[in-house]
Amino acid sequence: MLIMTQNIDLDILIVGAGLAGASLACALRGSHYRVGLVERQAPAPVAGWDARIYAISPANVTFLERCGAWPHLDAQRIQAVSRMDVRGDAGGRLQFSAYECGLDSLASIVESCQMAHELWETARRQPNIQLFCPATPVSFKCEADAATVTLEDGRSIRAALVVGADGAQSWLRAVAGLAADFRPYGELGVVANFKAAKPHRGTAYQWFREDGILAYLPLPENQISIVWSTPEPHAQSLLALPAEALAEQVAQAGERVLGDLEVITPAQGFPLRLLKVPQVVAPRVALIGDAAHGVHPLSGHGINLGFQDAQALSELLLNLPTMCDIGELVILQRHARARAEETLLVQGLTHALHELFRPRLAPLAALRNMGMNMLGNMSLLRSMATRYAAGLF
Ligand SMILES: Cc1cc2nc3c(=O)[nH]c(=O)nc-3n(C[C@H](O)[C@H](O)[C@H](O)COP(=O)(O)OP(=O)(O)OC[C@H]3O[C@@H](n4cnc5c(N)ncnc54)[C@H](O)[C@@H]3O)c2cc1C
Repeated sequence: MLIMTQNIDLDILIVGAGLAGASLACALRGSHYRVGLVERQAPAPVAGWDARIYAISPANVTFLERCGAWPHLDAQRIQAVSRMDVRGDAGGRLQFSAYECGLDSLASIVESCQMAHELWETARRQPNIQLFCPATPVSFKCEADAATVTLEDGRSIRAALVVGADGAQSWLRAVAGLAADFRPYGELGVVANFKAAKPHRGTAYQWFREDGILAYLPLPENQISIVWSTPEPHAQSLLALPAEALAEQVAQAGERVLGDLEVITPAQGFPLRLLKVPQVVAPRVALIGDAAHGVHPLSGHGINLGFQDAQALSELLLNLPTMCDIGELVILQRHARARAEETLLVQGLTHALHELFRPRLAPLAALRNMGMNMLGNMSLLRSMATRYAAGLF
């Protein structure tokens, strides 16, 4: 490797150009800030359909429009979710529709690689954003007026603020001495894409089953993407199945609502855990995205929280007077306070729902399914919950 001894001065250095980090950089485009984005590996396009897909809330679609990336996404590959159909393990059922809540859609399903690529390309086009890629940071030093991050190739970057958007195993969080509390669920999220025999009509389905939580998320061309959050031994057995047998199991578990399924993107498994980070800021450091929190994917909120972190931090930074020291702890604490409530709420609710439907709580089956049906019959509450999930409160 070529070792350089270049010193670079910036205002904001973002470590990690996943969806959270790249969206923050894009949200700062055109501003007076000199922004750097350090990434190990540039996002690469995926052949066919990406099995990592996200249900993006309407509030975050608006944020991504503001970032300049949304209009560049291929609209043919985005699917609007117009209805949700959630089923319990003993007859419970809850249905939401965009129409009854006065929304155009409940969420937009987008492939991870598509979004990552467009955010990266948008960042690349900006004169105030400098990309460092492939690059790995090796040291972090915090001083009174700036922090310095040194890269493996010897380059040294000074910035008033360093943002950790480097995922659940955040390097910046560790070197800044911020604690992280990981609680593994002992489950994998098994993801795969299928072609469905019957039309999905923009419906997202979710089943709370004895063997975990299965979600069908609609994709264009009558395809679906699934996330089956299930205990590791069962997940491993699903991952080991030949394509036809997997399709049959997924169709059966989903009550054949979409008829027969055919695998179009092979299954992959992701370990699931709850991650709590009590302090997401330190002098000259702020964490966003999965570096700052981890949630069970049952509510599809992970990156939605990450985008909201990026939006909140960018708004704070853009509204500060130009002479302000953006790395000062009192300023960063405003960001931490602004994000604490939603993060806690989403983590608390998804964790509680996950625990409530665990097999060991089988004796509660009647009660929890009755609760689902009661909520399903209260249209005002249902509509409020939907509008909240869509980020419209
Ligand atoms: C099965 C499953 C399904 C999910 N479904 C949904 C869903 O439907 N909706 C939703 O909102 N969320 C969902 N999530 C959560 C979502 O995947 C995460 O919240 C999201 O990917 C986090 O993005 P991020 O940018 O914070 O972190 P990451 O995606 O982890 O990005 C971190 C980036 O930092 C880079 N990096 C890391 N360390 C370094 C380093 N030392 N130096 C340089 N670069 C570095 C990495 O290369 C990467 O590009 C799901 C998660 C799982 C597991």
